[in-house]
Amino acid sequence: MAQKVLQDEQEKDVVVVGAGFAGMYMLHRLRKMGYEVRVIEAGSGVGGTWYWNRYPGARCDVESLEYSYSFDEALQQEWEWTERYSGQPEILKYANHVADRFDLRKDISFNTRVLSAVFNETTDKWVVESDSGESVTARFFVMATGCLSSTNTPDMDGIEDFRGEVVHTGQWPKEGVDLAGKRVGIIGTGSSAVQAIPVIARECAELTVFQRTAQYTVPARNEKLDPVRVRETKDRYKEFRDENFAMPAALGANLPQSKESVHEASAEDRATSFESWWESGGTSFMRSYADLILDESANVYAAEFVRSKIEDIVTDPEMARKLSPEHIIGCKRLVIDSGYYETFNRPNVHLVDVSEDNIERVTSEGLKTADNAYEVDVLIFATGFDAMTGSILKVDIRGRSNLSIRDKWSAGPRTYLGLSVPGFPNMFMVSGPGSPSVLTNMIVSIQQHVEWISDCIAWMDETAHKTIEATVSAETDWVEHVNAIAHKTLFPSCNSWYLGANVPGKTRVFMPLLGFPGYVRRCDKVASENYDGFTLVANR
Ligand code: NAP
Repeated sequence: MAQKVLQDEQEKDVVVVGAGFAGMYMLHRLRKMGYEVRVIEAGSGVGGTWYWNRYPGARCDVESLEYSYSFDEALQQEWEWTERYSGQPEILKYANHVADRFDLRKDISFNTRVLSAVFNETTDKWVVESDSGESVTARFFVMATGCLSSTNTPDMDGIEDFRGEVVHTGQWPKEGVDLAGKRVGIIGTGSSAVQAIPVIARECAELTVFQRTAQYTVPARNEKLDPVRVRETKDRYKEFRDENFAMPAALGANLPQSKESVHEASAEDRATSFESWWESGGTSFMRSYADLILDESANVYAAEFVRSKIEDIVTDPEMARKLSPEHIIGCKRLVIDSGYYETFNRPNVHLVDVSEDNIERVTSEGLKTADNAYEVDVLIFATGFDAMTGSILKVDIRGRSNLSIRDKWSAGPRTYLGLSVPGFPNMFMVSGPGSPSVLTNMIVSIQQHVEWISDCIAWMDETAHKTIEATVSAETDWVEHVNAIAHKTLFPSCNSWYLGANVPGKTRVFMPLLGFPGYVRRCDKVASENYDGFTLVANR
């Protein structure tokens, strides 16, 4: 058998997969602490999700002044955001600025996909191999591959027959896609589609939207940032960050959170309150009352309000009916938009409800549904991601006794703190399943994880330990904890990607943990108690 020739074998302290915001900060912090680090990245540049998601209209749903690193005072002072919610090009520019400022690129291998990571029980080291032939051996292995990186493209018959162009929003070509004068079909109405549809509709000749589940979306009310507000925030940036750090989703401390039940409000007060949140824009709409995501009978009021807005905005009553969601508002991630429902008043935009008229196959000319055929030149999949676990399971990760992470998680992901998995010593995940991650401002969660992981590595060295590994009982208790919290809310009640319900065959487990501050306290307590819940092995 021909032996694989490794082009480049390196020995490092830590190997990190992914150069998004998690991998970049992991590299910077560990390097500052004196460690040798190699980061391996599939893309040709830094930025992770903001590198791949270049679709028209891509924009963050967390406000710019909050969606940025806070670990370096000079960095947060010097960077100037221009809009309330930053668009993808600006965020990618910021990621590149950070990479330049901290000279990160020299320790990143770009255009390189990690294929496997194997723990060697003799040396207590991870061996990480990639498609370029690069092999890195390291004591610590960090998966910083992001929660929404592995795209989900439904397996549709006939896709190979299609004569036009096929693209996925999550892997939008760097050179762009020329949609001018084209007939475009877009499958999906999640956050990506809701952002893309208004922009594409203005650009293309005809746009057909294939909707399986109608979407609740509230206006973003994006606008140019007021320089006075920027100055005021920057003058007290540390306090501003601390206040957000103490919030349940690590964001929005500047906004009110109602403590009142919607049932206690009069019809008039409810209308005024929902209207004012609708006018101010953003996902904080769900803060209008304290019980909207806890109680189905409370949730109905908010859902009904958005449905009434759809009825007001969309001029064709049949179109408005099809666009009106029926499920619980907020249990799929609430979307914010810039003119989404309004776009359906355009004469060049058509809506096909594929829950009524199922997609049967792709043809050479477009899509065939049960009752109709649609001709398109470009077919866009806005069908989301194999969230939270997809990019971890793509790598053939093997821990003790050759245990595969794919086998370990065959019935759904199980972790301790969303950071660590029994059987996989010295391996950490940034914003892994079981951590608050996607239910928070991701950058804040990323920073908290990077700091916890790097502090743990330093502590291991200070105390002369060679391996750290979560115990099975800590993992079991943690999984129960994550589930128990989720089941106090309405989050698990619909087919969302939080549950893995969007990917056929994926086991349904509610993956993220609700509540950032409690989580941080728990992580700090674990560390202060000499890594309670972990087995530690001392150097010989
Ligand atoms: P998504 O929310 O999972 O939406 C995917 C859409 O595709 C859904 O409408 C889904 O319908 C549909 N779909 C999937 N498979 C289908 C099939 N076989 N046939 C027909 N329709 C199908 O994905 P996303 O829009 O990419 O967003 C994912 C997450 O990324 C968001 O929730 C958010 O966390 C993040 N994101 C954030 C922003 C932002 O910051 N503003 C922007 C984009 C994305 P069903 O609902 O019926 O499954």
